[in-house]
Amino acid sequence: MGYPVVLSDLINYFKKFPGIGEKSAERMALSLLDFPLEDVLKFSDSMVNAKKKLHPCPICGHLTENELCDICSDQSRNKSVICILEDYKSVFAFERAGNYNGVYHVLNGLISPIDDVNPEDINLASLVDRVSKIENPELIIALKSTIEGETTTLYIKKIFEGQNVEISRLSYGIPMGAEIDYLDEITLDRALSDRKKIS
Ligand SMILES: [Zn+2]
Repeated sequence: MGYPVVLSDLINYFKKFPGIGEKSAERMALSLLDFPLEDVLKFSDSMVNAKKKLHPCPICGHLTENELCDICSDQSRNKSVICILEDYKSVFAFERAGNYNGVYHVLNGLISPIDDVNPEDINLASLVDRVSKIENPELIIALKSTIEGETTTLYIKKIFEGQNVEISRLSYGIPMGAEIDYLDEITLDRALSDRKKIS
């Protein structure tokens, strides 16, 4: 005999989370049944709220529930230094490391011709616009060392070639293919302070 349909539906939803297999999904679903109804309602509300209220910041592409994200609206951040990242998970990793006082630009993807992801499919146009309004811009490219990361890095370098834009990239202390958001704070800090100028 299998699970009642409502329960197997719930298990199937938990299985959609990264790293959650059949057994863990079953455990999560069954323990949810032990929660007081009030908590289950709050849990479902918080999922709906997160999904409905969070949107990309119109300046940098980071997640926010306000008009602008906390970082873009923070007057103490240096707006002429922009760290370019693949996704907002990486922004959280940099913020946890805590020593960076510039701002970010979240690409929301990397250029990947085999997957049919072209420059216009990622958040690059707004970067060009943003940089054009800064007096002495510095860009720090912090993308992973994969073919997609390299292609995107070279593309960005090419866009700003011949312009007064200082571009550096994180040092190679970062393992090949490592996801930026999985790096520990010390590695990330070191890669940032050892960044290499590329134009
Ligand atoms: Zn922002």
